[in-house]
Amino acid sequence: MLDNSRLRIAMQKSGRLSDESKKLLAQCGVKINLQEQRLIAFAENMPIDILRVRDDDIPGLVIDGVVDIGIVGENVLEEEVLDRRAEGENPQYKTLRRLDFGGCRLSIAAPRDFVYSGPECLNNLRIATTYPHLLRRYFSQYNVNFKTCLLNGSVEVAPRAGLADVICDLVSSGATLEANGLQEIEVIYKSKACLIQREGEMSPTKQALIDKVMTRIQGVIQARE
Ligand code: ATP
Ligand code: ZN
Repeated sequence: MLDNSRLRIAMQKSGRLSDESKKLLAQCGVKINLQEQRLIAFAENMPIDILRVRDDDIPGLVIDGVVDIGIVGENVLEEEVLDRRAEGENPQYKTLRRLDFGGCRLSIAAPRDFVYSGPECLNNLRIATTYPHLLRRYFSQYNVNFKTCLLNGSVEVAPRAGLADVICDLVSSGATLEANGLQEIEVIYKSKACLIQREGEMSPTKQALIDKVMTRIQGVIQARE
């Protein structure tokens, strides 16, 4: 049976956000014994359960109220929200805090010899991306149309493989683009990790625990600044 009395927090199992997410909770005094292969971990000293999943699943788990709290990149959250709205849903959640890790940008990148003169020159091109909704929202400001090549990985090889003209992918240092013969031509979204909470009733004890953890997070992040 699901134990609803414990605060359920979803975080990325393994990837760019997992170490920092773990560290943040540890610095807040939440003692968790993570066993590498386990989906669920239990805090020893507080009524908190940690659910370790793929980052793409986290916004949905929070919006659907399966977990109380999630730590996820704003890029993944925003794409999920736009996707659900496109499906006619009205997704609800609360942002508790922007975090100080997971910084990256969603950028359009083109082959090095591409001459870029503004968003309009991308009209009707095929763009490889994992983020079609964020891309559509960006281009709608310029009345630019595009065709998609939806990929969940290896986006940066698409132009070389003849699958797309340009790409729209996450960038932090730019080294991956460089290594694939691409140049960054436009930043369309800037992202960091964030902490989100499900909408709806929360028991007073759970809410008190959230408030306590949030106060500690505030302290931890301020001390790091
Ligand atoms: P999962 O297996 O959980 O689906 P993933 O491969 O989709 O993982 P990661 O590459 O671990 O995801 O990235 C997780 C998040 O880290 C991204 O959604 C983004 O918010 C953030 N991030 C920070 N820097 C980068 C970067 N250079 N490239 C990709 N993501 C980055
Ligand atoms: Zn993912």
